[in-house]
Amino acid sequence: MQIYLFVLIVVFILLLLAIVRTYFSKRPIARTLLPALCLSSLPIISNFVISVSESYFFSYAAYIVYLLSTDWMLYFTITHAKAYCNFDFIRTKEKYAFLGMVFLDSLMILLNPLFNHVFTLKKISTQFSDEYYLLNSKPGHYIHLVITVLLIVRLIFIYFEKLKKVSRIYAIRYYPIVLSIIAVAVWDFYYIIFTVPIDKSMLGYALCGLLVYYFSVEYDTNRVVNKMFATIMAQETDATIFFDMEGKSVFVNKSANELLDTNENSVLMINSVLDKLTGKENGVWENSYTGVHKYEKGETEYVLELDYHVLEGADGSFIGSILNVFDRTEEDKRHREERFKAQHDPVTGSYNMDHFCEVARQRIDENPNTDYVIVVSDIKSFKLVNDMFGRKAGDDILCNIANLVRTYLSKNSVFGRIGNDKFVALIRKKDYNERIFIDGPRHIAHIESNLLYPIIIHFGVYEVVERNIPISVMCDRAAMAILKIKGEVTNNIAYYDDTIRTEFLWEQKIIGTLDAALDNHDIVPYIQAQVDNEGNVFGGEALIRWNHAEEGFLAPGRFIPILEKNGLVTKVDVYMWEEACKILRKWTDDGYGDTFISVNISPKDFYFIDVYMTIIKLVNKYGLAPDRLRLEITENIVMGASDKRLEELDRIRGAGFTVEMDDFGSGYSSLNMLKDMPVDVLKMDMAFLRRSKDENRANTILTYILQMARALHLPVITEGVETKEQVEFLKKLGCDMYQGYYFSKPISVQDFEDKYIYKDGTLE
Ligand code: C2E
Ligand code: MG
Ligand code: MG
Repeated sequence: MQIYLFVLIVVFILLLLAIVRTYFSKRPIARTLLPALCLSSLPIISNFVISVSESYFFSYAAYIVYLLSTDWMLYFTITHAKAYCNFDFIRTKEKYAFLGMVFLDSLMILLNPLFNHVFTLKKISTQFSDEYYLLNSKPGHYIHLVITVLLIVRLIFIYFEKLKKVSRIYAIRYYPIVLSIIAVAVWDFYYIIFTVPIDKSMLGYALCGLLVYYFSVEYDTNRVVNKMFATIMAQETDATIFFDMEGKSVFVNKSANELLDTNENSVLMINSVLDKLTGKENGVWENSYTGVHKYEKGETEYVLELDYHVLEGADGSFIGSILNVFDRTEEDKRHREERFKAQHDPVTGSYNMDHFCEVARQRIDENPNTDYVIVVSDIKSFKLVNDMFGRKAGDDILCNIANLVRTYLSKNSVFGRIGNDKFVALIRKKDYNERIFIDGPRHIAHIESNLLYPIIIHFGVYEVVERNIPISVMCDRAAMAILKIKGEVTNNIAYYDDTIRTEFLWEQKIIGTLDAALDNHDIVPYIQAQVDNEGNVFGGEALIRWNHAEEGFLAPGRFIPILEKNGLVTKVDVYMWEEACKILRKWTDDGYGDTFISVNISPKDFYFIDVYMTIIKLVNKYGLAPDRLRLEITENIVMGASDKRLEELDRIRGAGFTVEMDDFGSGYSSLNMLKDMPVDVLKMDMAFLRRSKDENRANTILTYILQMARALHLPVITEGVETKEQVEFLKKLGCDMYQGYYFSKPISVQDFEDKYIYKDGTLE
């Protein structure tokens, strides 16, 4: 007996310690455990009193306390079990049923001193004590026992219910408790059924209470590992929260607490955490969620990346969930800066080409009923500005222009820089005002060492009629319009129309098909006869013709200017020179070696190749005397030419080539210059002179040119002779060489040969 009492005291002390620790515990479950634990000490105390007391009164009171406290202890144990297993209990019908039962039972027990309907006491002697008051059951006691049994069974079932649902890793928290409850219940009933005096099962209840206390307040799986893990996680800058099956936080690291303004004692619920971080209200959260959200905390705005997903045990059962929150604020800032850089021009801060196209496309698509125009600007000779004043000055000018344009544009416009010196704006048609573009640029000038350098800006305007074509094409069209006025100073604005487009497309076609045409010999020389006074054909001019695969027969006027503009004419000229050499070679081989051919040289050829070397190589290749290849140059090759150019012409002439001045009289050359011209023959074009309304005046000029040429011993070939009268007139003036439709149109090489070479060489 002494040992039993001793153990009872020890257990009681342990229980008191547990109560104290539970009282101070910060775990929420401790709140529900505390009443159960406190109450479980009462059966021990009363049992102790019953065992040691020899007084009837004390024993009686102790029995009352004992019976009452078992009721309430069990009731609060159920409350705790429900919370521990995360079942709903507060305000449930079940709770009120149990509460009512326990309450009535308590009332019945308390009324026992009046009616003795629960128990009476019988004094017996036991092996330990002579005066031991044994409880003598009355019907009320059986009611009490039934209620007790009900409570215990319910308690056991709560744990069973939980065990059915939880994954194995959680089962350890429930098994020991439920087994110990069953054991203690069996033990207790042994005493009740066999009415053994001194109910030692109280010890069991206490131990059971300690066990529940341990799992509720002290238990922590893998304490060491958890500590290490928690330390690592605490140092993590990313926020991490683990949630149990019920969605309650079981681990929150420091970063997470800081982010959510919570502390280590807070219990967080997954739903509210996700709602808070995503700014949603009562969001529905599935098994996983990832997303990036803005999150405001105090003054600071964060960009957070959330990664939430449930965790499964090895057996695939649901064991909880984890939420990782990564702070992406810095990355987001960097990303935004990069995106800004990628979308903007670094010099002026305006949109770059790609971004302009993107925004403009969006604007046009989103406003189907609004008409727009696209304006492209081009700074005249901007390269020169850069060259003269340096890049920095160039950049300053661009910034000034960008700022100026911005002040003129409404917020409905889109503005960007799409090339070195090209800006573009998409403007609503109703906001567009031509004056802005005429007057605006007047404010821009560059001042360098007190010298005002005016900046001339040309504008091309495309009215967005075809809304679906790419924005870049719209810009091209506006830019194309500028080409019309490129050289002009007074007119600085031009509008795109379809002729520009047609011209442009034509240009593209010519450029695009040139190489294949040369390879296929679709480009051929035609020859126009040159005739002397006796009607003898002494030579011919090779004139280019293009038998275009799609466009048919093309005269040089359709493509030579385009090729000249694009620097491709040289390719064609060299080809024509070689074709002429081939023909001359053939005639020589066939015994007609005294006829020569004139070829045309474009001013551009002198920029791109060494004309002298090229023709020397050609005549050598075909073994021809240089004087058989005559070279027609135009006066702008000679006018204002550098010494180097004149030297080159001299070298050409020195090598034995005959250089002819083509279209003399058509340009600005004066008769006075004639004496200095490094040429051997003058080709005078009647067509130009005929354009004059005053026929007498034309004739006078013609007369003087011929007189002057004769005085300088320069032979003259008159071009464009169309009538017999013209020939008679020219003859009288002393002209002796002609080229014109009157004698022959330019004809194919085959026809030319048939007509003039392989015959007797005279006109029929
Ligand atoms: P051009 O060198 O002055 O050639 C004379 C042009 O006057 C030829 O025009 C010819 O057909 C035309 N013509 C000749 N007689 C008469 C006439 O009685 N009445 C009229 N109305 N016209 C006449 P085409 O063949 O159309 O050539 C035009 C221009 O194209 C040439 O003028 C020349 O500057 C250029 N060209 C022709 N072939 C070449 C070439 O291979 N290379 C280069 N760079 N230019 C070429
Ligand atoms: Mg010519
Ligand atoms: Mg000519």
